[in-house]
Formats: sequence, structure tokens, C-alpha cells
Amino acid sequence: ATPTAIMAGIGSAAKHGILIKSGVALEQVGLVNAILFDKTGTLTEGKLQVTGVARLRSVRQEDVLRVAAALERHSEHPLAQAIVAAGEAQRLELPEVESFLVHPGNGVSGRIEGKEVLVGNRRFFAEMGVSTDELRQLQEEQEKTGQTAVFVASEGKLVGMVSLADRVRLESRDTVGLLRLHGVGEIAMLTGDNQGAATHIARQAGVTTVFAEQFPEAKYQRVEEYRKRGLIVGMVGDGINDAPALTSAHVGIAMGAGGTQIAAEAADIVIMTDDISKVADAVKLGRKTLQVIR
Ligand code: ADP
Ligand code: MG
Repeated sequence: ATPTAIMAGIGSAAKHGILIKSGVALEQVGLVNAILFDKTGTLTEGKLQVTGVARLRSVRQEDVLRVAAALERHSEHPLAQAIVAAGEAQRLELPEVESFLVHPGNGVSGRIEGKEVLVGNRRFFAEMGVSTDELRQLQEEQEKTGQTAVFVASEGKLVGMVSLADRVRLESRDTVGLLRLHGVGEIAMLTGDNQGAATHIARQAGVTTVFAEQFPEAKYQRVEEYRKRGLIVGMVGDGINDAPALTSAHVGIAMGAGGTQIAAEAADIVIMTDDISKVADAVKLGRKTLQVIR
């Protein structure tokens, strides 16, 4: 009966836009009692909007957005897509980028018109030895309202900041509620984003445990911590930065539609639509399948 129930479960899931890669994955999701969610693109739509561009000294606001968009054109991050869209809306001509690099959970870098440009968060800038003091107060004010701000530097000097806002998915709160109903006792959010924005979003999604400013490595460590507590851990994510955590969880679940290829490959289950409530459906189906087996 076991293989039959599993085949039926996987087939039924597929019809509902849930790709379950193996029988083990279906069983594990049926056993899950802790779920860790990524924030951006997972609990939130990941469709960020640029809400403002700050500039410093003699640099024009337009140039801050122009170099940021030029770099971000090469990144898959939801934040990057929003910055590129803002640049396009202003009909800015985006210069070529050389030696582009992604720094997962941190930002991006590259050479533009012979200058070394960085776009990313405070931690990244600290690591690169670029002071963010001049825009720090503005950034902190914006964080309190749930916004995310990334700094822009050229040739090792801070030149501006781009502020962005995201929205919680409509289904997130219900999904979290349903998971609790299905007996998932531990639910938390892991994000590389700042504490202010993280808390703001978590509250709206009904998640009370929040780990902010988590590097990809730290997300992975959190999963390990939960595992060591004897929990069966599900991790839900969409980004490159979530891949290590998705791999180390008992069951990694990727948001397939808007997410990255890397996350989908690292996961055991891929939600093919953009509907996070399918995470609760997968758990329910897993539970049901195990009942059939026993
Ligand atoms: P989340 O965990 O919410 O999905 P990430 O770990 O992907 O977030 O990113 C965490 C932080 O790293 C972002 O809030 C941003 O500050 C910075 N970051 C990541 N990717 C980029 C990028 N392409 N451009 C600028 N900043 C980035
Ligand atoms: Mg994400």
C-alpha cells in the first residue's frame, strides 16, 4: 500500500501545482512540526516598489538610480528587479557593467564606467570598509515603517541610498494559521533584511518568531539548530540565499513561480504557482498520506 499511497499523493499534488520530487519528501512534509519561512518573495510578494532615492554631496539623484539599476540588471533578487523597474520608468540609459559579482544576502558589486560600484546593506558596506554614517539616520527612520533601504557607493564612497517597500502576500497570514491548525508548533521567519522591516512584515503575516539580518550561512545554522532540538524542519524559500537552508532542512520547499532556479533545485518540493497557501496543502497531503501508510 505504501508506494501506491505515495504515488497517489505525488500525483494529486502535481494536479494542484505542487511538485514533490520524491516519496521521502512527501513523507517528511507529512511529519513536519517546525516551519521556517524566508521573508522576501516568500511571505511577501517580492514585488518591491522603489519609494525614494537619497543622494549625497554633488551626486545627482538620477545618477544614484542609474548606477544602481545598471548593476541590479544582472541580479535576480526581487529588490534588484524593483530598482531596474524604477530606472526604466525614468527612462534612464543604463551603462555596461564589468566584473559583476553577487554577494548573497548582502548586495552586488561591479565596475561601471571605470568606477567600482557597490549596492547593498549596512553589513556589506561595513565589510567593504565604506561608511554609511551619513545616511544612517534616514535609513533607520525608514526601517521602522517596514521599508528596506540599500546603500550605493562609488569608488569606496557612499553616494546615495535607494528605499523600497514590499507587501505581505494576501495568503500568508491564513497559511500560517492553517499550519498551526495542522499541528506545526514552531513557525519562524528568517530574513537577511533589517530587524525593523522584518518585525513589521512578520506581524502582518502572524509570525511571532523573527530572525533578522541572517546571512545565507546563518539561515542554514538556524535550520540546524531546529533540527538539533529534535524537530522535523520544513524550510520555505525562493532565493539563492535560501539554498543552503533548503538543502539542510528535512524538507525544503521552494516558491517556484517567482523564485530562483537555484532554490527550486535545492528544494524537495516546488510550489509551481505563486500561492504560498500550497505549503499548507502540501503538509495536509503529507499527513493524509502517512495515515494511509500506517
Ligand atoms: P530575504 O532573506 O528577505 O529574502 P536576502 O537574504 O536575499 O533577503 O537579502 C538580504 C539583504 O541583502 C537585503 O535586504 C539587502 O539588504 C541585501 N541584498 C541582497 N541582494 C541584494 C541586491 N541584489 N542588491 C542590493 N542588496 C541586496
Ligand atoms: Mg527571499
